[in-house]
Amino acid sequence: MSHYNEDELSAYALRPEATDDRRTVEQHVSGCRDCRDALDVIEAFDTALHDPLPWEVADAMPFAEDTGPRDYERDSAARFRQALAAMLPVFERFRAGFTGKSSPVHFWWGSFDLAVTRFSGRDAPQHPGGVPGLPDRITRDAYSQEVSSAGFWAGGVTQAAPFFYSYAYPEPDGFRGRPLPAGGWNGDFQEFTLPYAEVRAAREPEALLTSFLQSTYDTAAELADWDRARLEREPVAP
Ligand SMILES: [Zn+2]
Repeated sequence: MSHYNEDELSAYALRPEATDDRRTVEQHVSGCRDCRDALDVIEAFDTALHDPLPWEVADAMPFAEDTGPRDYERDSAARFRQALAAMLPVFERFRAGFTGKSSPVHFWWGSFDLAVTRFSGRDAPQHPGGVPGLPDRITRDAYSQEVSSAGFWAGGVTQAAPFFYSYAYPEPDGFRGRPLPAGGWNGDFQEFTLPYAEVRAAREPEALLTSFLQSTYDTAAELADWDRARLEREPVAP
């Protein structure tokens, strides 16, 4: 049969009394990845609305109950915003060199990182999950296809110094051993990293960052045999 639309799946998930034949929907959804994915999103959204917990945070406390005092350092926030604004055009230009499915250059407020993710278009093996504070179904949906992902992380409790990062899922054989023109393998985080301080001090910071983004992607795409002729082009953004 044809797929269920969003209204039908919402009714099925959220208003049990509104669906006459739940068994038929259930059977279809169990065998149809498209509808199951759509249903997952509807359920996750509903959960987020009714149980507003921060995600990607271990031992998260509901927002409504979290009334503890917080420091706000205006100067740090302003400098962080400036740094993001300065690196954004470099990420945007890098993104413009890819014609396959790509995320926008976007900011994750959970882990607090800037990121851009490229997809090969091929399915990936099921992700093991286990990301703190994140339901496995979300992680598995995010990593349902092969990715090469790069970004910037400002650091946090586990790492004082900010860095740029790049990883591939699944990680192709030989990935972590590859020498790079800039940065290198970070065993603590299981990804390539390039210290922010190094970029900041470089004579040509944009060129250094671009080299890191491009070389780590090249490594992932080459080792995992992506269809590069179809997925890439010369960046056309200014
Ligand atoms: Zn379907």
